[in-house]
Amino acid sequence: MSRTPWAQPCSAHRRDGWPCGAYAIRGGSVCRMHGGAAPQVRHAAQRRLFEERNRRHRERWERMKPETRAEIVAGIFPREDFSDYGHEGLPVA
Ligand SMILES: [Zn+2]
Repeated sequence: MSRTPWAQPCSAHRRDGWPCGAYAIRGGSVCRMHGGAAPQVRHAAQRRLFEERNRRHRERWERMKPETRAEIVAGIFPREDFSDYGHEGLPVA
């Protein structure tokens, strides 16, 4: 799966009323010139990207067949015995 480009336009407007037109920072809604470089804005954008990625991974996990999930978990924790949990009780890392 490829990385999703953000490629969202900056939501701010220039002094003359036209839209900024620059790309927003990844995960954010404004470009660097319109507040996107500020630490709290960057952090919020990073958290949004992280949550978005988490959501996609969770959706993919939920679409998987139980056998596929069990194989993945066995690959990550090869020495653990999950037989008591069954296929569905495994937490998403
Ligand atoms: Zn802008």
